[in-house]
Amino acid sequence: MTLLKKTVAELQTLLHNQEVSVKELTEATFARIAKVDGDVQAFLTTTEEEAFAKAEQLDNQPNAERGPLFGLPIGIKDNIVTKGIVTTCGSKMLENFVPVYDATVVEKVNDAGMVTVGKLNMDEFAMGSTTERSAFKQTHNPWNLAHVPGGSSGGPAAAVAAGEVLFSLGTDTGGSVRQPAAFCGVVGMKPTYGRVSRSGLVAYGSSLDQIGPITRNVEDNALLLSAIAGVDRRDSSSSSLAVPDFGAALTGDVKNLKIAVPKEYLGEGVAKEVKDAVIEALKVLESLGAKWEEVSLPHLKYASPAYYVIATGEASSNLARFDGIRYGYRPVDAKNLEEIYLRSRSEGFGEEVKKRILYGTYALSADHYDDLYVKAMKIRTLIAQDFAKVFENYDVVIGPSSATPAYKIGHLLNNPLTLYANDVLTVPVNLAGLPAISVPCGFTEGLPIGMQIIGKHFDESMLYKIAHAFEQATDFHTSTPTIGEGN
Ligand code: GLN
Repeated sequence: MTLLKKTVAELQTLLHNQEVSVKELTEATFARIAKVDGDVQAFLTTTEEEAFAKAEQLDNQPNAERGPLFGLPIGIKDNIVTKGIVTTCGSKMLENFVPVYDATVVEKVNDAGMVTVGKLNMDEFAMGSTTERSAFKQTHNPWNLAHVPGGSSGGPAAAVAAGEVLFSLGTDTGGSVRQPAAFCGVVGMKPTYGRVSRSGLVAYGSSLDQIGPITRNVEDNALLLSAIAGVDRRDSSSSSLAVPDFGAALTGDVKNLKIAVPKEYLGEGVAKEVKDAVIEALKVLESLGAKWEEVSLPHLKYASPAYYVIATGEASSNLARFDGIRYGYRPVDAKNLEEIYLRSRSEGFGEEVKKRILYGTYALSADHYDDLYVKAMKIRTLIAQDFAKVFENYDVVIGPSSATPAYKIGHLLNNPLTLYANDVLTVPVNLAGLPAISVPCGFTEGLPIGMQIIGKHFDESMLYKIAHAFEQATDFHTSTPTIGEGN
């Protein structure tokens, strides 16, 4: 049996007792990647050389210095910068970009003794919901290769689901950790805005972006968030609130907790199988002593349009730095400065990114700013107030992570408005800056379904508590796709 099928707790014991070396675990990881990634296509870059150098260094470390994440393999979404390792953001613009520093989260996983084994595929600049917008490859859903893994963190979710890594880091601007986690049957946490430093994350929508862990189960997720969270002097929006030990929240006790279920989250547009699975999940939580009631988030219907105005507005400004001078792609035969700007951006960016830069520029232009951007910001406030009102009486909000299971590859490629509308269950959380986790809660036709638990600002512990209690009472998280089994 491959070492990667063991639980993190089992591996910790083996590594701490030196019954397995970090080198052996790293070898097993690359063997698994070699076996299945031809089909899954989750990795854009694998980093054998750096990983084995790190493994050797770790194997010489005394036992007393070995923490809970020591020696464990992790994959990183390719919009998080890694010193000396190409970081493409899934874009031709950054195809050959080698950062000179590590993102804060990368420093933190390194300091925890984790072994980075590669960079994972994504929609270009994190704009998308299917990973079909990567300039380089199509990642496949390990449960059914004809389906998308979700996006934009499709690579990170698929790599964990396919057993290629135990941990990955994704990013969530409007759902890109939770939705691919749901599509791939793994656990994905979008922390409170400010909980995790964004230093070294290539910005998409800076007021919405957060980095979050993707793992096979809730316990592993809590462990990784504890390691990456905390204030950072390189990100002035990072919070100085103390980071609790999230693992301590996993008590199994959800008695008398109050759950709000917005009727909009189980309304029109949500597939019946998804609704049924979430209602069954609520019944499980009820059997454990929690109570749930229906509520309403009246402004939810405006969330997607408001999100797309704000996110594209911020993107149009953030992506202005890619001008062919400072970073990335530049045509070698450009004849003058204007041609460098023009051709670098026209040839370096893909369709979706260019479209969003245009939308965003339009929304921020003097003639449309009041009608579009200012209005979207007002809606953002109303949505945050809707949640705040619900949280006066409830501990968490629960609904599906996505209205449907994973789409077939190509199915919605030419239907961007449907794709944008399908973000309605995830984007409100980013607009309000709240934390939310997606946990597996069912299957339909062999594809996973995810339940989303949304919490108060900085109350990730409550999300882990409920998600863990649910996980212990069910066995969805123990199912794994059959990919790579047999020969
Ligand atoms: N699907 C959303 C978008 O395309 C969310 C992306 C994200 O969270 N990075 O913007």
